[in-house]
Amino acid sequence: MASAQAMQNVRAAALVERDLAILRRFIHVYCARHHHSPRGTLCAECSALLSYARGRLASCPYDPKPKCRHCQTHCYKPEMRARIRVVMRYSGMYYVKRGRLDWLLKYFLSGG
Ligand SMILES: [Zn+2]
Repeated sequence: MASAQAMQNVRAAALVERDLAILRRFIHVYCARHHHSPRGTLCAECSALLSYARGRLASCPYDPKPKCRHCQTHCYKPEMRARIRVVMRYSGMYYVKRGRLDWLLKYFLSGG
C-alpha cells in the first residue's frame, strides 16, 4: 500500500514534469526563432538553459512545490533567471498571438 508520503512524491514529480514540458516547449519556440535551430533541436546555449532549469526543478526544496513564479526563493542564478525570463516572455507572446491560450490558461490557472 502506498504511503501518503509516496503519493506526495508522485504528485510532486508530476508537477515537475508538467513544468518541464511547458518550459521545453517555450525554449524550443525561442531557439527556433532566435538561433534558427532545426525543428525539434536546441542549440548548445538553449539546451544548457533547459538542463539548468531541469536541475533547479528537480532539486526544489519545497513540498508541495509551488509554481516557480510564485516562489519566494529565487533559486536561479541571476544570469539564468534573466535568460529564462526573456524566453518565457517571447514564447508566451508567440502562443498568445497564435490563439493558443487554451492550454496556457489551463496550465497557469490550475493549482499546484
Ligand atoms: Zn538556442
